[in-house]
Amino acid sequence: MKIGIVGCSGRMGRMLMTAVSAHPRAHLSGGTERPGSDALGADLGVLIGQPAMGLAVTDDPAALFAASDVVIDFTAPAASVIHAGLAVEHGAALVLGTTGLDAGQQAEIERAALETVVVQAPNFSVGVTLLMALTERVATTLDTDYDIEVVEMHHRHKVDAPSGTALGLGKAAAKGRGVVLDDVARYAREGQTGARPAGEIGFATLRGGDVVGDHSVIFAADGERIELTHKASNRSVFAGGAVRAAIWTAEKKPGLYTMHDVLGLI
Ligand code: NAD
Repeated sequence: MKIGIVGCSGRMGRMLMTAVSAHPRAHLSGGTERPGSDALGADLGVLIGQPAMGLAVTDDPAALFAASDVVIDFTAPAASVIHAGLAVEHGAALVLGTTGLDAGQQAEIERAALETVVVQAPNFSVGVTLLMALTERVATTLDTDYDIEVVEMHHRHKVDAPSGTALGLGKAAAKGRGVVLDDVARYAREGQTGARPAGEIGFATLRGGDVVGDHSVIFAADGERIELTHKASNRSVFAGGAVRAAIWTAEKKPGLYTMHDVLGLI
């Protein structure tokens, strides 16, 4: 399976190249970076502390999509929309981990998924995929006497908030309750907020240091509290899941899939 990596010199891009080069069924077809990046021209192997591979970082994503069965994208929302179009044009699958897409950008991804295979997840770790399933399950059982709060912490470089994973957990909780997240979400609180309305799903965002990703979903009632927590301590869990998803795309029909599909949870 020929796997390309866009944004290959980023924090996740390097992890992804390491995971692809270690996988027995995967072959690294190349890597791109944004125009002007210092990494352009660097050897992909050298970039991840391995022997030279004879493949250089380019700023030509069209050539990468043409040379790949599947491309893994952990870059930035505007870039991911362009990459989705290239995936369609070149008949490649897309594994999409970029978070922070707005509604218009998400619609572009969904349009591309009508014509090619797209696996999109706000979090590719197996543990968080299970946390999402558990969150939906618990929210199905508990009524609005249980206030739902989603708390997340990430490293100081993260640019979107709440995290895509926190929003995914909120959606899972809302689904379990049979409501639409946007109708009940409180994405942040400040000042004279008034008492908490029943049925609200609240979010709290912490940023600092080198935290890879902590997420908790809290169900708080009078007299008791249930907390479901996941802590990622190494980005390799996201990279390993994304490469698993990339291999899984082989011979799938066009469509928008999630990590739940990859793990066979639905
Ligand atoms: P990063 O800033 O370290 O890496 C992003 C890379 O993409 C950079 O090297 C940047 O130069 C490159 N890039 C930007 N525009 C590009 C373009 N047009 N073409 C090619 N490359 C381009 O960030 P990161 O920590 O690696 O995270 C990247 C994204 O992945 C973020 O949206 C983050 O939230 C998300 N993320 C998702 C998961 C998940 O499991 N879904 C896990 C971790 C991070």
